[in-house]
Amino acid sequence: MAERKAREDRVITDIRDQAKTESQRKSAARSKRIVAIILWILAIGCEVAAVILFKKLVVLWPCLLALIVDAILCIVAAQFWKKANHIDPPAGKFWQNQFGAFMAVLAFAPFILILLTSKDVDPKFKKILTVVAALCLVASVGLSIDYNPVTIDDLDEAELNALGYGGECYWARYSKSYHFDPDCPTLLRSKEVFHGTIEQAFEEGRTDPCDFCAGGKEQKENSGE
Ligand SMILES: [Zn+2]
Repeated sequence: MAERKAREDRVITDIRDQAKTESQRKSAARSKRIVAIILWILAIGCEVAAVILFKKLVVLWPCLLALIVDAILCIVAAQFWKKANHIDPPAGKFWQNQFGAFMAVLAFAPFILILLTSKDVDPKFKKILTVVAALCLVASVGLSIDYNPVTIDDLDEAELNALGYGGECYWARYSKSYHFDPDCPTLLRSKEVFHGTIEQAFEEGRTDPCDFCAGGKEQKENSGE
């Protein structure tokens, strides 16, 4: 491989001293999951409030407000949930990782169903509420999906591969990949590089092994991707 030089202003930020122990990671993930569940309960509460407000609709804004607060709570809850799954990855890929998207559907679909099947409602009100509820549903689901889901198997495999590197790796500010070689050609272009443990990389959403220096290519070939 041709020798390449790192940019001269490159900064490597060492965050290894902030690494959590396994029990600290588990408890941090647990707290985040509890916060997420509380926020989802409040979101469902807003949905119920929106249904009640809609049933005795006189003015529109309280119902709209309930829907918007519902959406905000769902979106914030899902960010806590996703972060927890990256700190302490679940065993299954789909169900637990995408639980936020499921909760977002639950926080809007029943309201929309009740809205659409209701008669004797001012058609103008109905139209506005349908549009707002649909937008809230789409935004909440879209922002609740984990587009980079990880399982405990992914982390176990990464930890195993990192053993030869002291369990440490490198990553750039804007990339999904982690690297074992700080001078990896794909890292040399980055102005800021972080140096931490493999668990920290996962926590930061760096879950993709670099094709050049972290065996990503072999892993993808083995998994038939
Ligand atoms: Zn690399």
